[in-house]
Amino acid sequence: MPKLQMSPESILGSKPVPQGFYELELVNFRVKTAKSGNSLNLNAEFNITDGPQDTPTEKYQKKVFCTWNTSWWGGIDIAHGLGVQLEQDNQGLETVIPGDWEPADPNKPNDMQGAKYIGPLFGKRGSFEVIVTQDQNGNDRNEIRQAVCKVPGCTHKHSTSLAGSKN
Ligand SMILES: [Zn+2]
Repeated sequence: MPKLQMSPESILGSKPVPQGFYELELVNFRVKTAKSGNSLNLNAEFNITDGPQDTPTEKYQKKVFCTWNTSWWGGIDIAHGLGVQLEQDNQGLETVIPGDWEPADPNKPNDMQGAKYIGPLFGKRGSFEVIVTQDQNGNDRNEIRQAVCKVPGCTHKHSTSLAGSKN
């Protein structure tokens, strides 16, 4: 008789990691138009590559997600945590994410929904404090509270309360 096996991922690895400082590697952006329509959400996906004590282990999630909205001031913290400075805009402010964006539909070059990122942020690692918060349904999830800036000589005043600060 054949047997059916459930996906092990549905049993293992479902628990948010305990609060602490973790080494995270940025591996993906999922670009979506924000509800307001005036900004984009670069849903950032990080692999947990190192952590305190015995984490990450198989009982915990292997990933942390961060909604990086293009009008969120915390983006600079995330980039600096990965050791990457943003590029300056024409007012000399550090606001431009280095790299390019390939539209999902080449016939709609201005539609950023689903665009693919090609740039220096992917594969970069840094130290981030991860905390446990609750989503709208009261379920535990991980959020990034702060980044440890890796940019030499940086004078930017980085936030220590990034979680829940998104618009
Ligand atoms: Zn910095």
